[in-house]
Amino acid sequence: METADVVIIGGGIVGSSIAYHLTAAGCKSVLVLERDTQQGKGSTGKSMGGVRAQFSTPVNIRMSLHSIPFYASFDERLGYPAGYRPQGYMFCATTDKHMAYLRANHGRQVALGLKDARIIAADEIRSMFPQLRADDIVGGTFCPTDGFVDPYSAMIGFMTWATEHGAKLWKHAEVTGIKGDGNGITSVATTRGVVSARVVVNCAGAWAAQIAQMVSVDLPVEPLRRMLVPTEPFDQFPHTAPMIIDMSNGFHFRPESLGFLLAWNDPEETSGYKTDFEPAFVEKILIRAASRVPIFENLAVNPKRAWAGLYEMTPDHHPILGPVPDVPGFFLANGFSGHGVMHAPATGKILSDLILTGTCDLIDTSLLNLSRFAEGRMIEETAVL
Ligand SMILES: Cc1cc2nc3c(=O)[nH]c(=O)nc-3n(C[C@H](O)[C@H](O)[C@H](O)COP(=O)(O)OP(=O)(O)OC[C@H]3O[C@@H](n4cnc5c(N)ncnc54)[C@H](O)[C@@H]3O)c2cc1C
Repeated sequence: METADVVIIGGGIVGSSIAYHLTAAGCKSVLVLERDTQQGKGSTGKSMGGVRAQFSTPVNIRMSLHSIPFYASFDERLGYPAGYRPQGYMFCATTDKHMAYLRANHGRQVALGLKDARIIAADEIRSMFPQLRADDIVGGTFCPTDGFVDPYSAMIGFMTWATEHGAKLWKHAEVTGIKGDGNGITSVATTRGVVSARVVVNCAGAWAAQIAQMVSVDLPVEPLRRMLVPTEPFDQFPHTAPMIIDMSNGFHFRPESLGFLLAWNDPEETSGYKTDFEPAFVEKILIRAASRVPIFENLAVNPKRAWAGLYEMTPDHHPILGPVPDVPGFFLANGFSGHGVMHAPATGKILSDLILTGTCDLIDTSLLNLSRFAEGRMIEETAVL
């Protein structure tokens, strides 16, 4: 029987980052189990790749303050490109209420050490991007160290480093059961055989609740479809632009290749494992795009290039991290609620520290444990795109 010190279920960016961090910290026997024949077919390969520290809660800000510099030095540390592009995130407020919200968030971000984020006036937004319809914009915030990464490349970089330093990756190995005894977990059953292990990390993304059920744990993580629409090449808007967020309706976009990547959270979307792209979404998003950027009326879109993926939502839009006391040896790294790529470096460090030493000083990990739901300690993140 195969034996591992730590088994990681799921080879997306979160499982890969944890494999890297454990291996780099000296853990000699890490095995990642991925049910697909390739990595990245879950949410990681569908992501928009945005990274930002402009959050509303201290714990999310702290996770980003660790993760973004990590991405900035990724290529040097791991010898593999993460594709970090610090082009920024620019939030555009159209109401005084939204502006007050941005100011409050900005205060928290600066207090925690985010030096570069700043409040910007409506005139500055107009002069930076005269292509925007700005008659209703009252101001915003901009942080130049926010930006984008290449999620697939970062995931492969984490896993390549880990496997070159002793970790193992089994592809086409679906986890079908987890067994335990009175002392905790003993083994994991997969379609490639049984693995003996005392520590198991659930990194199964939108499918995490099913893994948790294998040890009778109710995990409040639900799949929610998100659709992205890439445009054909378009040169009438600068490709140096940041992620630009229209707070009047949540529409946001960023440069991608020779065109742009358009995103909008359709409030009519309901939870479920829906990964088909809905062609009617193209019109819905193009209306919002042209409303904020009138020259986007000239955008060409090939719906066949658009795609859908799953967010892994929790009730308070924060991840669920750390051990499950009722099941010794069972750890969670789930429910990133749309932020799993940007928070993968911090998550890898936190889980590696918790598994190997039982503590972590990067954040107060009790804030993100599973028991917060039962104990009524939820911490709502409202800056979800
Ligand atoms: C359209 C879209 C846009 C997004 N944009 C952003 C963004 O801009 N920034 C950001 O930070 N995040 C973004 N996200 C969210 C981000 O992609 C996810 O939070 C992140 O990829 C989660 O990584 P993961 O490794 O936990 O999950 P996944 O990448 O889904 O990996 C989980 C893996 O577990 C495997 N698995 C499941 N069940 C089993 C089993 N039984 N046995 C073995 N393996 C199993 C799956 O095959 C999968 O490979 C976006 C998501 C979507 C869908």
